[in-house]
Amino acid sequence: MTIPAREYACDIITDMQTTFNYVVGHDWAVSLLSRSIEQGRIAHAYLLTGLEHIGKSTVARALAQALNCTAPSPPCGQCRACKLIAAGRFPGLHWVAPEGNSLKIDQVRTLQHDLALSPMEGRYRVAILEGMDKATPEASNALLKTLEEPPTHVVVVLIALEAESLLPTIVSRCQLIPLRPLSVETVRAALVERWNVDHGLAEVLAHLSGGRLGWAVMAAQDGSVLARRAQSLDDLLRLTRLGRVERFAYAEELSGDLLAMRETLNLWQTWWRDVMLLASGSEAVLTNLDRQAALRDCANRFGVDQARAAASNLAQTMWQLDHNANVRLALEVLMLDLPKAVA
Ligand SMILES: [Zn+2]
Repeated sequence: MTIPAREYACDIITDMQTTFNYVVGHDWAVSLLSRSIEQGRIAHAYLLTGLEHIGKSTVARALAQALNCTAPSPPCGQCRACKLIAAGRFPGLHWVAPEGNSLKIDQVRTLQHDLALSPMEGRYRVAILEGMDKATPEASNALLKTLEEPPTHVVVVLIALEAESLLPTIVSRCQLIPLRPLSVETVRAALVERWNVDHGLAEVLAHLSGGRLGWAVMAAQDGSVLARRAQSLDDLLRLTRLGRVERFAYAEELSGDLLAMRETLNLWQTWWRDVMLLASGSEAVLTNLDRQAALRDCANRFGVDQARAAASNLAQTMWQLDHNANVRLALEVLMLDLPKAVA
């Protein structure tokens, strides 16, 4: 089972000359990092956490620029170091992402070898390790040695969905920077102003994004993202009318692509939350704004209790999957518990 490359190759935002100025939202993280650089109190290691496509890589890259920028108020985005880092071609930037399904000890060893060299250019060698959640125990333990005895002129930036999935001994050696979802309004405004997305589409995507600007930009630029979403919602509605055999077949299909599975379960959760809101007569803003008729139909069919149970089952399944549950089994239980539409 392999994870498609897109999770790690999602660098849409970095087409631009990423500097702190281009980081949308995450103000406190940016000001904390700029201040620590200004005051020369740079940590040996940082841990950036948050949902997929929330901006972790963008912040990491801007930090690498700030550490190596030669302008008086870094990062300038214009100097040689800033430009090379934005283009991913700076010799002192070491970007490591999982190979296939895991981040492996050989990758950490290669990195350690590179980090032991003194910087050829720039002030710091910056190691960015993406997908630390997927590090094997051997890779984690090997990396721990670097964190315990960091080479001078090296800054390590770890990227993970959540700190809880890493070794506590790794987390305790990092400055933790948890990135939170952006507001709907921040995502909407950024789509319109920086990516020239049409107002109507920006409104829909901002609500669908769950505060993940990277996802919204990707969806605006790549029509297949919204097409996949539409398919997953159609699948959900179809599944409520189907029996065990078809549901198990769907679970099997879904378990074949872990990244798509996570996206689908997240989406379904927003769906049942919307159904719950409508069924309970709440005035809160819906996520799936563009599908109100189908949401109302579900609200009438299933009512607030079934919608709440469905959302809570999804949350539980996602928690189990994040904590190494058997994927097929967890999905099959989820499928059995999906609300059943009475014909
Ligand atoms: Zn610069």
